[in-house]
Amino acid sequence: MIADPTVLTIVGVFGVMFGSFLNVCIARLPNDESVVSPRSKCPGCGQPIAWYDNIPVVSWIVLGGKCRRCRERISVQYPLVELAVAAVWVGSAWYYGLNLEGLAAALFGTILLGIAVTDAKTYLIPNEYTYGGLVLGLVFAATRGWGGLLPALVGAAVGFFLLLFVAWAGEKAFGQEAMGGGDIKMMAMVGAFVGWKGVLLTVFGGALLGSLIFVPLSIGKKRLVPFGIFLAAAAGITFVMGDRLIDWYVRTIIG
Ligand SMILES: [Zn+2]
Repeated sequence: MIADPTVLTIVGVFGVMFGSFLNVCIARLPNDESVVSPRSKCPGCGQPIAWYDNIPVVSWIVLGGKCRRCRERISVQYPLVELAVAAVWVGSAWYYGLNLEGLAAALFGTILLGIAVTDAKTYLIPNEYTYGGLVLGLVFAATRGWGGLLPALVGAAVGFFLLLFVAWAGEKAFGQEAMGGGDIKMMAMVGAFVGWKGVLLTVFGGALLGSLIFVPLSIGKKRLVPFGIFLAAAAGITFVMGDRLIDWYVRTIIG
């Protein structure tokens, strides 16, 4: 655990910067646009945004959530995502320390946030998150040798084939596509970070959160389910406390 306020502040600054980049990913990846160039423009007047108007969180507050030139509203999503990523980074450094596990937690949390927000807005989970996350998860696992890499590979395979089966069964049962390919690839990525037991816990938790939160909100409205949001929340919880939850379950419910 790290409690030094200076260190945590520096980590937080990195967090808002990654959050700022994540906003670019959220806006552009679903449209297959480059996240590197061109520079961000105001959606209202098309004016490229100057660096001093693009400072995470600060600029949005200074400008009152409006474009300097045309006063077009700038979504509160931008500062909120930046703050959320900063919270993930500070939380990861505080809980795990400045080490590979802390970095893995911070990046995994950032990708999950990106998936959740993108899925909520577009019902899409771009491959950049899932393939990129899968590679990251396997690389982090490989730093612990075969003892780390093997469970990560098994976790990725279980995540992929379990969701593939759920998607197939859902289509058989409801006669329509219940789950997209994005969810399947996402769970391969999650499996690389949390292992096969973590995959089961994530899918169970995601289904539970989805039915508790989404179903009451959408009764009779026949809306698509952005299931990635609930899987992302459950995957984050599983990463932090999955082992404890599984232990508790095995001791009190089974044993
Ligand atoms: Zn403008």
